[in-house]
Amino acid sequence: MAENGLKKKLNIAVVGGGLVGSLEALYLAKRGHNVSLYEYREDIRNTPQVRGRSINLALSVRGRTALKDVGLEDHIIQNHGIPMKARMIHRTDGSTYEIPYDARTNQCIYSVGRNYLNGLVLKETENYTNVEKHFNHKLIEANLQKGALTFLNTDTKGTVQVNADLIIGADGAFSAVRKAMMKQPLFDYSQKYIEHGYLELCIPPTEDGQFQMPANYLHIWPRGNFMMIALPNQDCSWTVTLFMPFQNFKAIDSEETLLDFFTKYFPDSIPLIGRKRLVEDFLGGSPSPLLAVKCRPYNVADKALIIGDAAHAVVPFYGQGMNAGFEDCTLLDRLFQYHHDDLAKILPEFSETRWRDTFAISDLAMYNYIEMRDLVTRPSYLVRKAMDDFLFWLLPGVWVPLYNSVTFTTMPYSHCVKNREWQNTVLLYLFYFIIFCVFVGVWSYLR
Ligand code: FAD
Repeated sequence: MAENGLKKKLNIAVVGGGLVGSLEALYLAKRGHNVSLYEYREDIRNTPQVRGRSINLALSVRGRTALKDVGLEDHIIQNHGIPMKARMIHRTDGSTYEIPYDARTNQCIYSVGRNYLNGLVLKETENYTNVEKHFNHKLIEANLQKGALTFLNTDTKGTVQVNADLIIGADGAFSAVRKAMMKQPLFDYSQKYIEHGYLELCIPPTEDGQFQMPANYLHIWPRGNFMMIALPNQDCSWTVTLFMPFQNFKAIDSEETLLDFFTKYFPDSIPLIGRKRLVEDFLGGSPSPLLAVKCRPYNVADKALIIGDAAHAVVPFYGQGMNAGFEDCTLLDRLFQYHHDDLAKILPEFSETRWRDTFAISDLAMYNYIEMRDLVTRPSYLVRKAMDDFLFWLLPGVWVPLYNSVTFTTMPYSHCVKNREWQNTVLLYLFYFIIFCVFVGVWSYLR
């Protein structure tokens, strides 16, 4: 018997050293397996941050649960993450109002730097002698049934052959491991590019290094068919992301059209970003596309599995892509424990139990774009939110609003959707009941 009570130490190749791959490598190393992590790029810890280009992310309970398992939650929450307790909505006249995420228990989401978090998890793997990291290694070929991988070493330009008991593909939305899986019979796959892209801008700190806007909020400028959001960074700057149809981006092709557009829709942001910087960053950048991927099954027999964006890239509007990927790692770890590292049981069970939830969060994320860019400004949304908040306060164990269940619990995503469906039905009947009572009241009065 190997150490850690394992029957057999497995040789596991993790492809992709992004957020999810690094975390998975750490989970597996903690379990005692031999892990080799292969990452296309150079070590993110040696890559200088390009200002205004570093995406920060909203970390919520699912991601926190995984970080807690590997001993990193406290560090992230206490030393790095910036709590965001509410959405702060910016109207076109520059006035603002807040919509709390959780008025009952004041739970919040945390803004974390992608590079920082990725670097922290990679650094943590250094505490384990059973992890090897290979940067500048690009997967170019895979025979998943045989557990065989071929990498291109982008430094030496030579190829490297690897054999593993298990291959984990965590190589992102354009996964090469998934591409190899697509040759399998009965592998279902669909992808959708939405018509909107995103462009990142930056609000710098004040000259004395302070935030220019109230820090503990996710700021939103909802404008119907498009929106801008801003998340705070550790250095008191803000990463601002404009989500908009590509055709609108295309129409803004000069300093004049850009400033007209911002003056009309986001006037309060111009002095915050700064005219010069706005022009440089906007016209110097180009919008990136947004992709959602659904596929299944996630495994090839007991040899290969895809997780994170490789398995289920979602549009970013629920702030759940990374959180869902981290949850994959947690669920997988539970299955390793439950099935005593028996891959023939773990991999099919993961595939069969996970897809409904990832499909559900994919659909929710699409819907949330409409909520963020449009519905939040409508009275009907605010009335529904007030009712949800009241019922949540009254019946906390029974009535958990959709956003709270997705963001502040580990309830399976598909259950969050089912919850919302019966809540809608209850409210509809309540509405009919009120109409009926009003009708009866008026009728008795007039009689
Ligand atoms: P990635 O982060 O894409 O990492 C994949 C890694 O694999 C990369 O390092 C890549 O270099 C490597 N790789 C790729 N191909 C190969 C190959 N052939 N060989 C070897 N290595 C390879 N999620 C949230 O939870 N909260 C948010 O607030 C949030 N905001 C977002 C905002 C935007 C604008 C976007 C685009 C996404 C956002 N997300 C958010 C989603 C989140 O970024 C992703 O879900 C997350 O990065 C997925 O992690 P991953 O490790 O699966 O994939």
